[in-house]
Amino acid sequence: MARVFNFSAGPAMLPEAVLQQAKEEMLDWQGSGMSVMEMSHRGKEFMSIAAQAEADLRELMAIPTNYKVLFLQGGASSQFAMVPMNLLRGKSGADYINTGAWSKKAIAEAKRYCKVNVAATTEASKFSTTPTQAELELGADAAYLHYTPNETIGGVEFPYIPEAGDVPLVADMSSTILSRPVDVSKFGVIYAGAQKNIGPAGLTVVIVREDLVGQTIAGTPTMFNYAAHVESDSMYNTPPTYTWYLAGLAFAHLKNKGGLASMAEINQRKAAKLYAAIDDSDFYANPVTTESRSWMNVPFTLANAELDAVFLKEASELGLMTLKGHRSVGGMRASIYNAMPEAGVDALVELMADFEKRHG
Ligand SMILES: *Cc1c(COP(=O)(O)O)cnc(C)c1O
Repeated sequence: MARVFNFSAGPAMLPEAVLQQAKEEMLDWQGSGMSVMEMSHRGKEFMSIAAQAEADLRELMAIPTNYKVLFLQGGASSQFAMVPMNLLRGKSGADYINTGAWSKKAIAEAKRYCKVNVAATTEASKFSTTPTQAELELGADAAYLHYTPNETIGGVEFPYIPEAGDVPLVADMSSTILSRPVDVSKFGVIYAGAQKNIGPAGLTVVIVREDLVGQTIAGTPTMFNYAAHVESDSMYNTPPTYTWYLAGLAFAHLKNKGGLASMAEINQRKAAKLYAAIDDSDFYANPVTTESRSWMNVPFTLANAELDAVFLKEASELGLMTLKGHRSVGGMRASIYNAMPEAGVDALVELMADFEKRHG
């Protein structure tokens, strides 16, 4: 069996130990005689899997008790609508920070439900930086402030948590959740599609402060109401059971590896190696300002775009896969989430140096 280093932005690599455990338990989960896929979500086996996953996530992120954790479907994209539906709470507008493609999508969806005040946008810089706290122009009566801590496509990441006073802060953490410790108490809502830094696609994790639940706008479908999911422990309807189980295995794995402080150290080191390889050369470039560079998604261009195809071919021959940049950015993008081993980054850095020698 030859496993490759997959630099995909999502769905992305999973820890090999997690896949191995899933393989071992595939046909018979812990003597139940069933695969987790075949279990009733209301049976005691699956209930224990679900509860353990939540407990492990709570421990990993040190989630305070006044926050609910929901395991939903619909992706982060559904949260673009669920957030305004649940958080407007009688107000008519919300603040959004625009730092790139995913912010834009969140803004476009929110505009269907409320007046969006763009508190800051970095579009003039082609989304190559993040706004400072001083640059945020918060609305007078905003229901919440929404931002994207890590823009997966642009590779731009906030080096700080925006401050919005009493206004709940909402974060789309799809591509940065679990990459380092974060103070959950600073947020009203954190949401993340699972397929980047948690587990397989099909699961969306939502962490919501209790007092923000239960005041939806008129006409909100039940499935879009956080309260329906809170009241039923994310089992209002059939939840994505197998994905929930795999996410649980990933949480347990992260705990074994020393938790998020340990992940932060490794992730920072992986990113630093890659940015050093880019900055130390005249052949590779990354457009993002130093302080706003992402630990998770590292876009870079070659001095000659005609060599892109050659680079990708050589990379794939070495088992370094899915490095092609997003179609809107071009060049390369290396997504180096938790499950990307440091050896994968080392191999990429080595190829980059060697490639430059031959083609630079
Ligand atoms: C991938 C991604 C999304 C979209 O997630 P889906 O689960 O596909 O809806 C939204 N926001 C960010 C930051 C992402 O990286």
